[in-house]
Amino acid sequence: MMQRITAVNAKEEIAKLKNEQCAEDDVFFQAMEEVLLSLLPLFKSDEVYAKNAKNAIIQRLITPNRVIKFQVSWLNDKNEIQVNTGYRVQFNNALGPYKGGLRFHPSVNEGILKFLGFEQILKNALTGLPIGGAKGGSDFDPKGKSDFEVMKFCAAFMKELHNYIGPRIDVPAGDIGVGAREIGYLFGQYKSITSAFEGVLTGKPHFFGGSLMRPEATGYGVVYFTRKMLELETKEDECIKGKICTVSGAGNVALHVIEKLQHLGATPVSCTDSSGTLYDKRGVDLELLKELKLNKRVSLKEYTKVHADAEFTPVADYPEEGHAVWEIPCDIAFPCATQNELTVVDAKKLIKNGCMCVAEGANMPSTSEASSIILKSDMYYAPAKAANAGGVAVSGFEMSQNAAMQKWTFEKVDAKLKETMENICINVSETAKEYGVEGNYVDGANIAGFKRVADAMIAEGI
Ligand code: NDP
Repeated sequence: MMQRITAVNAKEEIAKLKNEQCAEDDVFFQAMEEVLLSLLPLFKSDEVYAKNAKNAIIQRLITPNRVIKFQVSWLNDKNEIQVNTGYRVQFNNALGPYKGGLRFHPSVNEGILKFLGFEQILKNALTGLPIGGAKGGSDFDPKGKSDFEVMKFCAAFMKELHNYIGPRIDVPAGDIGVGAREIGYLFGQYKSITSAFEGVLTGKPHFFGGSLMRPEATGYGVVYFTRKMLELETKEDECIKGKICTVSGAGNVALHVIEKLQHLGATPVSCTDSSGTLYDKRGVDLELLKELKLNKRVSLKEYTKVHADAEFTPVADYPEEGHAVWEIPCDIAFPCATQNELTVVDAKKLIKNGCMCVAEGANMPSTSEASSIILKSDMYYAPAKAANAGGVAVSGFEMSQNAAMQKWTFEKVDAKLKETMENICINVSETAKEYGVEGNYVDGANIAGFKRVADAMIAEGI
């Protein structure tokens, strides 16, 4: 029987849970452990939260309110029935309707979605908006499927999911493998089942209710956050200009990190996909990248057909513990592909090569051990939970626009995004200082996010 879990006994209790549960949950425990250990300074100094035992806040926070798992059967282009598994993890709605993306990727399982849903609770709290935390998805792989197959899968997925969502209940968005195309098909099916044209999904194409700037929001937000953090820490202006940046991923987040870095006068020199790493030391050709990854949906290797002097390293040619992209000398590293893509080996390489900052675009891209090394080093560290909150913030703006039947301009959304990311950065920095861990943005983000959710949970009772 598990002891009541607190920030003080988190390590031992999580170790016991790990022994009892399946390997799928490893990433969930990794995320939980990081958060709970971060909360120690808060629990030591603040009476309200020290009474955790009475309110069972942590127990309630680490247990999803509801996990929905369902069969998704759909017809492929050969008229054969295909079967996948769909999920929605509705984690916590103390602050507002459940909110969080859908991921379509063969690696998806309940453990990954619990980790992402748990992270989402605190991330959403940091935005200051009235939104709870959730995540969902399927082990369906959109890669290699025709447009019609993707449409039929999305329709079958929504046939079940529509029972559990609604603009005041749960508002999903995109994530890996789910972009505007998939959100469009999901929305169409929801509308046809319920007859309701309502803001039940965010990340919709802008011509039927989507917010302008939602595609750019996460990537731009990461750069706005990083710029503010460097300004606060180094007291210098224009901290991004002239920097050499490495970026991993070549999807929604990575492409828009690259775009904003270029706007601000930095030189992003890399990106990666599941086939390998691309290094173009003159600075990546963003137009070509968008054509290859968003329109043609092909491997990054194709880039070298146009730019013969760029280097492509296939995944198979690189040792397992490390990743080619983190070996490239840089000033700032932006991991923007997936979880645990930056290991101890990679962190040590970044330090050796004089990197000054790691800014996380993907969710939990650094392993626990890599995070510890980064925190102990001289590098500045922008953790995902705070740095990549721009996507969900603009999703929140999309909910407001839909509810009010309004459409904001690109400039208005961009200004509000920038303001939100800078406010999150200042809040995280000040919280870290208040609890005696100045400069530690990981602890600052976890404490600031937790306080907002915990206050609501205590006030709402059980
Ligand atoms: P996309 O599907 O648009 O792109 C993901 C990119 O990462 C692709 O280039 C993909 O390669 C690569 N990738 C994915 N999984 C793996 C893997 N297991 N190994 C190697 N490469 C991989 O996703 P997003 O850009 O939307 O999401 C990236 C990260 O950012 C995720 O961690 C997501 O949770 C997080 N995030 C996304 C937000 C958003 O608004 N989209 C908001 C906040 C966080 P390939 O092209 O070969 O498939």
